[in-house]
Amino acid sequence: MTTTVQSELIAAIRNIPDYPKPGVMFRDITTLLGNPRAFRRAIDELVHPYAGTKIDKIAGIEARGFILGGAIAHQLSSGFVPIRKKGKLPHDTVRIAYSLEYGVDEMEMHKDALKPGEKVILVDDLIATGGTAEAAVKLLKQMGADIVAACFVIDLPELGGRKKLEALGVNVRTLIEFE
Ligand code: AMP
Repeated sequence: MTTTVQSELIAAIRNIPDYPKPGVMFRDITTLLGNPRAFRRAIDELVHPYAGTKIDKIAGIEARGFILGGAIAHQLSSGFVPIRKKGKLPHDTVRIAYSLEYGVDEMEMHKDALKPGEKVILVDDLIATGGTAEAAVKLLKQMGADIVAACFVIDLPELGGRKKLEALGVNVRTLIEFE
């Protein structure tokens, strides 16, 4: 990807200091999603390496991973699987607990959302510590998924998420980085 495209994506993201709490710089992708050119660019760049590859399912992490994942699924002619916070899915689920900065949370997906061996790409907007994506990877592996890659628009490399996923043997694709 060219630095021009990266600059365009960086410019399309809104930075909100001290949200949701002091000391955090929130990278708000709603401005990127609202910009037709930047939204298309981001999706095109994320799918680029997988064009022509058969990907059975895109698994999107609630909530921004749904928006990006839906567009990616359409582009790759794949199905879409939502990974949600506990209690939101109506049918039988598999669930995993994961640590947050304060306390724990749980995420889940439908038991019948994937067949063992299906090729899956995991999608979210941003990877920070990697705790969220790591839990999603574990859930997908539990279902027998063949995880082709985990894709994010934004990487915060100082927080080590990419390395955490790579240590699990997952191929990670990100488009831009912030400190
Ligand atoms: P983590 O589990 O630490 O990798 O956090 C990733 C999840 O939290 C993703 O779903 C992101 O959308 C969200 N997130 C974490 N840090 C930020 C940030 N600085 N700006 C926007 N979203 C963030």
